[in-house]
This record gives sequence, C-alpha cells and structure tokens, in this order.
Amino acid sequence: MKSLKENFQKTHIVIIGSGIIGKFNALELSELGFQITIIDPTQMQNSSNAALGLLMGNMYQKRKGRSWDLRKQSIELWPQWITFLQKYNYELNIEKPLMQLTTNEEKFKKLEEFIYEKNDQNLRILERDSIFIKNINKAFQTKNIKGIISFKDGRINALSLLQTLDKYLKYKKVNYLREEIVKIRKSDNQWISTTRNNENIKSNIVILCNSLKAIDLIDSLSHNIKLKPVLGQAMEIEIDHAEVDLLSLPKQFNINGKNIIPESKNKLIIGSTDEYSTKPEENTFEKLTNFLDKRPNWLMKGKISKKWYGVRSRPDGEPSPIMKNLENGLIICTGFYKNGILLAPACSKWVANEIKNYLY
Ligand SMILES: Cc1cc2nc3c(=O)[nH]c(=O)nc-3n(C[C@H](O)[C@H](O)[C@H](O)COP(=O)(O)OP(=O)(O)OC[C@H]3O[C@@H](n4cnc5c(N)ncnc54)[C@H](O)[C@@H]3O)c2cc1C
Repeated sequence: MKSLKENFQKTHIVIIGSGIIGKFNALELSELGFQITIIDPTQMQNSSNAALGLLMGNMYQKRKGRSWDLRKQSIELWPQWITFLQKYNYELNIEKPLMQLTTNEEKFKKLEEFIYEKNDQNLRILERDSIFIKNINKAFQTKNIKGIISFKDGRINALSLLQTLDKYLKYKKVNYLREEIVKIRKSDNQWISTTRNNENIKSNIVILCNSLKAIDLIDSLSHNIKLKPVLGQAMEIEIDHAEVDLLSLPKQFNINGKNIIPESKNKLIIGSTDEYSTKPEENTFEKLTNFLDKRPNWLMKGKISKKWYGVRSRPDGEPSPIMKNLENGLIICTGFYKNGILLAPACSKWVANEIKNYLY
C-alpha cells in the first residue's frame, strides 16, 4: 500500500498570492509532500512586506472563540517552525518579551483584571518601579505609562521571515510563477487558473491567498464574501541621540495602540494605524506620534528616515480571517487585516487538514 506522502505527491496545488499566507501554506503543504505552484505577479507591494512582525497571541484578552483558538495554536506552532526554518536562516528568531502599555487608567484597570483572572505564568503586570517602566517613562518624559508584559509574545522580523521562506521554497523546488491570475474555473474535475498572458495552469486544488483580490476570482455574491481595504502605516524615525538612548527601551512594545520598535540608539520604528482607505495621507508623522498627550522633545524633532504602508483586507460582516472551503478543491484563506504573521501557522494547518479531508 502506498504511503500517504506518495499519494500527496500526485496532487498539484496552486496557491494564488505569495504574501505570508501563501508562502506559509506552501511550506506546510510542501512538507506534506504535495506538488505546489505559487503564483503572484509581484511580491514587493504586498502587506506582508510592510508588517512589523509583532506576535500578539498570549496577551489577547478574549480567551475563547475561533480567534483565540487560532492564536493559541499559532503560539504553540511558532517555536517549532522557527527551529525548522533555522536550517535555512540560523538568525531567524522571535525576540521576546512584548509589552502592552497605556496612559489610560481605565484601560490599565482592565489589563490588571485580565492578568489576575487568567493567572497565566507568562503574563505579568509591570510594576511602577520596574526598570522597564522607569526607562519608558523617562524616555517619553511622562510619569503615567503603565502596562503588562507577556513573556510568550514577541516579534519576528517579517522581511527576514519572508526571505527565509523563499529560501526554503527554492530549496524544495516549489514552482513559482510571476503571473497575475485573472480567472479560475473548473473543468473535468480539475481547476484551471488563467494568467493575464492567457496561460492555463491546471491543478487539483486552488488556494486563494491573494488578499483583497480573492473576491475578483470567485462569485463573491453566491459565497457571500465581502472584503474592505485597511491601510497600515509605519515609519522609521531618526532622532538626535544626545537626548535619549533608544536602546534603553524594551525591544518591542505598544503604547496606546501604537507599536514601537527601537532599532538602534537613535532610530525607532512606529506603526501602524487602521484606516479604511488604500492610500496613505500626508500627515504620517502626526498620526503615528500622537499616542501621548504630550510628545517628548526628541520625538517632536525626529526626522522620518523611511516610511511605508500596506493595504490589508478586512472581512465585511464576518470575523477575520476568512478560511472557507468554497467548493470541491477551492479554498479561500484571506481577510487578514491584522495578525497575518502571527496566525499564518495555525491557518496553514487548517488548510492542510481541509485538503486531507477532501482527498481522503
Ligand atoms: C504597517 C503594517 C504593520 C503590520 N504589523 C503586523 C504585525 O506586527 N504582526 C502581524 O501579525 N501582522 C501585521 N500586519 C498585518 C500583516 O501584514 C497581514 O495580516 C499579512 O501580511 C496578510 O498577508 P496576506 O498573505 O494575506 O496578504 P499580502 O501580503 O497582501 O499578499 C497578497 C498577495 O496576493 C498577490 N495577488 C493579488 N492578486 C493576485 C492575483 N490575481 N494573482 C496572483 N497573485 C495575486 C499580491 O501581489 C500579494 O503579493 C501589518 C500590516 C501592515 C500594513
């Protein structure tokens, strides 16, 4: 009797879209032995390239439902995948811990309640006299920043992750086509994906990982799927290093909803905002630095050395993400308006299980 892996080798899967979701599905399925083709005209402008890579799983306050299940599964899967991917890039790592901070008393009380209720060893309230809080308050010239620390959450460098996945996929000889898919249809039990250059690619299964554009390829009305664009912005700021040493701050933290990543003594990244548009506005600096009542001088005088954005897809009328088996051999995995990096392992596992159930 042939092994499951030998049978999988006969199944050709086309993945449309090569952001983190497409690439992670390719990794999971290729490890199971499937024949994979990833199709994407360009990877450069996708939202995965813009991501800051924060993995906010454990500090998620809602500890039930599908969203929590996906986060919980991803938290468990990430360390295993990191060990696996380190064969292709030994520097790939998750920098821990992660801090969630606020200047709002009400919000802090909720965070405190959450920590007391959950009694989770990996979460702690940051005491007022902790070195972290002291350094943060000093740097931001305030007295009222408070928060929690999660030892299980952290950050993975998203660009480095994507490059490592590319290296893996190349090594595994996964087929990569730089084409745009304009149509998919089913014929004689096979899926035909047609490129803009009119080339037809046959496969047994198609997985739609092309974010907002997924709905252009399906009858979104009959499947009742709606997506809207959400802009995420980030910038790197260079400051006068005489005023503050950014390396005295934690490696990654969130204050009043803004993610902050000090990169060196005088450079830090701040992101991201959620806006229902596709083009960034001019006042990026203003928008991304308004997380405190009064900005510290060094931040006011800071200069943007880089700025970037990404457009993500948000499900309209249902929770994020959308993971559905639309028809025999057609799966959609989209709507990651946030947390796509965090959730990639759990979502890819879900897709793999759907495929196994479909085939056997
Ligand atoms: C500024 C910013 C910060 C973020 N920070 C974080 C964070 O800290 N942590 C986190 O977990 N998440 C973060 N995110 C969210 C994360 O980036 C997204 O959830 C994730 O990238 C979504 O990945 P995706 O693969 O679904 O989409 P994308 O990366 O957008 O990929 C979709 C791909 O589909 C391709 N495509 C589209 N149409 C077609 C077609 N017809 N044929 C072929 N290919 C097609 C596109 O070219 C694109 O490459 C952030 C996002 C932004 C913008």
